[in-house]
Amino acid sequence: MVGNVPVGGGAPITVQSMTTTKTADVDGTLAQIYALAAAGADIVRCTCNDTDAAEGLAHIVPRSPVPIVADIHHQYRMALAALEAGVHCLRLNPGNIRRPEHIKAVAEASRDRGVPIRIGVNGGSLDPELYERYGGQVTAAAMVESARREMALFREVGFDDVKISVKASNVALMIEAYRLMADDPFFVDDEGRSVPLHLGVTEAGPLPGGLVKATAGIATLLAEGIGDTIRFSLTADPVEEARAGRVLLESMGLRERKGLDLIACPSCGRAEVDVIEVAEKAQSALSDLGLPIQVAVMGCVVNGPGEAREADLGIAAGRRRGHLFVKGQVVRVVPEDQMVDALVEWAHIIADDGVEAALARADESAAVEAEADRQALLEEKGEDANAAGTRVEIIRQI
Ligand code: SF4
Repeated sequence: MVGNVPVGGGAPITVQSMTTTKTADVDGTLAQIYALAAAGADIVRCTCNDTDAAEGLAHIVPRSPVPIVADIHHQYRMALAALEAGVHCLRLNPGNIRRPEHIKAVAEASRDRGVPIRIGVNGGSLDPELYERYGGQVTAAAMVESARREMALFREVGFDDVKISVKASNVALMIEAYRLMADDPFFVDDEGRSVPLHLGVTEAGPLPGGLVKATAGIATLLAEGIGDTIRFSLTADPVEEARAGRVLLESMGLRERKGLDLIACPSCGRAEVDVIEVAEKAQSALSDLGLPIQVAVMGCVVNGPGEAREADLGIAAGRRRGHLFVKGQVVRVVPEDQMVDALVEWAHIIADDGVEAALARADESAAVEAEADRQALLEEKGEDANAAGTRVEIIRQI
């Protein structure tokens, strides 16, 4: 348990993020923690790098909406100070605090308070001795060995309330390290419970590359059943990290959808409207409403409603009109400039009354009108709206 949030043991996968404020700035840090929680973070980490930060934590922890993890760097005394401040978890980097007596002192204090510790191995700050022993390079085995050493010291003082991360900025290395961890019986307790794993690609970088790297590493492992809690380490507003984590878990079916899932076709030569513009407008109009529904924006009525028939709600463009559909059934035909407004109105109907009630409110003539538009477009443009067949004919004659 990190505060009141379970991690591991079959609990839902959780999203973590980290504040970028000075922890001594209590109000600024709390404002960011609230923003992260609203964006989907279940647990938030704050740095505890000096006494001012530890004092800040004493004020932050009781007012935070989510459990707080203190990030400890080189001074083990800051871990003791963070515990005194009431944090719900510590994060220790074995590469930074290396004296066994210091590590054991922190583990003992955590044990006595019932506070868990994350052993946060980082490929970039591996213990130099291990680095040398593994051939002067960061390897997955060296990272796992670092976690084993720390865990062994914890066990010496009867403490095993830990989760572990073995992060690297290299996605392939990170995946290999976590797979090794997951297979290592050293990290299974006497009752057969595995140590929970905290997944992340460290220093993934700015968007969009950082998002792709973090997703590649985290999603690969989650798909293999490895991982209990995740963090996207992006060089961006941490709210983006929390959002990304939440979207990943929801899209993999690992967490219940909390907000909007907007799907949209990529557009093509058949599109009857600027799909990107309509999708962006729909996203901004709907995302703050906090409605847990899937909404589709499709560029044409010929293929759109069929391809998005599983969406709760959608709209497809055709002949300067929008065909609004609920679970694939057309319920309204609206002018093109009212497409987004219609989506918002019907999103509320579905959220308030459910899909069946929304379907019961369908315009009787809507399906007929929609089919007429569809047939007219097919006659006008044919099946081959991208003109690929015509182009191929011309190419063959060159
Ligand atoms: S065929 Fe229609 S729905 Fe499919 S990508 Fe093209 S515009 Fe979008």
